[in-house]
Order: sequence, then C-alpha cells, then structure tokens
Amino acid sequence: MRAMVLEAPGSPLVPAELERPAPDRGQLLLRVRACGVCRTDLHIVDGELTRPKLPLVPGHQIVGETDDGRRMGVPWLGWTCGECRFCRSGRENLCDRARFTGYDLDGGYAEWVVADERFCFPVPAGFGDLEAAPLLCAGLIGYRSLRLAGDAERLGLYGFGAAAHIVAQVAQWQGRRVFAVTREGDTEAQAFARALGAEWAGAGVPPEELDAAIIFAPVGELVPPALAALAKGGAVVCAGIHMSDIPSFPYELLWGERVLRSVANLTRADGEEFLELAARVPVRTEVETFALEQANDALARLRRGDVRGALVLFP
Ligand SMILES: [Zn+2]
Ligand SMILES: [Zn+2]
Repeated sequence: MRAMVLEAPGSPLVPAELERPAPDRGQLLLRVRACGVCRTDLHIVDGELTRPKLPLVPGHQIVGETDDGRRMGVPWLGWTCGECRFCRSGRENLCDRARFTGYDLDGGYAEWVVADERFCFPVPAGFGDLEAAPLLCAGLIGYRSLRLAGDAERLGLYGFGAAAHIVAQVAQWQGRRVFAVTREGDTEAQAFARALGAEWAGAGVPPEELDAAIIFAPVGELVPPALAALAKGGAVVCAGIHMSDIPSFPYELLWGERVLRSVANLTRADGEEFLELAARVPVRTEVETFALEQANDALARLRRGDVRGALVLFP
C-alpha cells in the first residue's frame, strides 16, 4: 500500500510502499477514505513530541471502511490498559500506558490501517468521508475543551483553525456567545469566524469579559492575556498537546477563582457524545483536501497558519 512515512523527526515525510497491515484479534482492517491533518501531526513531524514510534505513519483523524461496508472513525486514543487508576475511574484519556494513533501506532496517512475496534466510532451518516475526518480530533478534542469550559456563556476562542471552527458551531447551538481572538492582521480568520456566527472577531482584547477562553493556538504567550480577559470564576482551557512556554504573570490574573487547565486526549465517552451532537447540530466542517502524496504540503500550510477550516488527505 502507499503511505507517507516519518523516518526521522525534523525531516519531511517520505512516500513509501508498505505491506498492507494485517489485523490482530479485536482489530479492524480499514481502507482509509480520508484522514484529517492535525496540528499534533506537525508537532510529531517537527520533533516537539519526542517519543514517536519510528518509522511512523502519522494521522489520527481517520475515516475508514471495513470490508463489509461500515464506515468507522479512528481517533487519537488507540488503546488503553483498562487497569490503571485512571482507566478504572472514567479517565482513560490519562491512562499511563495509553497508545495513540499516528504516534505509538501507525495511522491514516496511508491506504489501509488497522485499529482496535473498541476505540473506533461509527461515523454518523450525515457526513461525507472528507467532512467527517476533522470531527475525529479537531471536533472531539475541541468538544472536550468546551465541556471543561463549564457553562460559560461568553466564550473566547484563541486561534481560529480546525478545532475552533467546529467548537464555534456547537457553542452557539448550546446558546453561548462566541468571541474569536486571532493573530494581529489575520483578517481572513476573523471574517471566517464572523461567518460562522462569532459575535466579535479580532486581535487583542475582546469587547466584553469572558466566562471562559479556550486556547487552540500552541502559543504560551496567550495565557496571561486570556486570563486577563476572564471574569471572576472563569477558566482558561489550553487545548493543545504542545504549547510554547507560558511567561510568568502576576497572581492577580488568577485571583478571583480563575482556573487555568489543560485538556489531554479524549475518552471514548467524549467521542460517542460528540459525534451524536455533531449530527444533531448539525456541524458543518469546512475542509480543504490534499492527495496523500501532498501530506508535506498540507503540513507546511498548517505550519504557516494559512488554513481556513480543516485540512484532509485522501488516498
Ligand atoms: Zn490505563
Ligand atoms: Zn489531533
């Protein structure tokens, strides 16, 4: 099968012909229909996440098809131990021995993939293959971040990419007000956010206090201003797996029971809940597609931040 392979972090993916993987017991063999490109893939390729399996087939937003025609989604969480204290307390996202798709396990930048059936989700019928792919990480992790933002009415989204464009739709459907904070001068992202219903989009300080802020950009410098934008009791949720260092800030920014927290991975319950919700809203993902062999171009676009919505590969 054709695949795009990471041989060494810091170098581009290499097109390769690999053996088609053979499923173990409990695994599905899936023909990949689409695979979303996530910022985490970029962190892996660039070496900011330091322990990938090598060589590695990246990709963890996979829409695949079984030989009997079922469409299944394969997310980042590929396997958990089921035994540790996290697994036994409904927090499998924190499992000490978790294995992740496209990091510890070969992922979807390929024509075929195998995945543990217990961690796959049926893809809701209302979504095309390409449109469904970004739901599987951008949507899912975005949704978990939104849940951890509590019942915030005024929601700030810092960085308006794949995840934010989905979260904005769910948040408004839930009756929240959305404020999008983008980089200075990124008028395209601002227009995109407004087109998706954001009440305000701009750089700098939102016009009202926020009840919660979700930071999707991997930029630690955003944490102090996001805290400063919060009303008392509000939360800043850092949604990415990697972030540059957070500068020190005065305690006053955290005072008033403000909360700063991260989001790690997902549970299967998140996935079931979100996909059901995404179909009900219904979420409309905006995708730009690339051929499998163009994976490096897609990653380069993501690195530049030159993306409207989500990027998806199709083999
Ligand atoms: Zn565990
Ligand atoms: Zn991801």
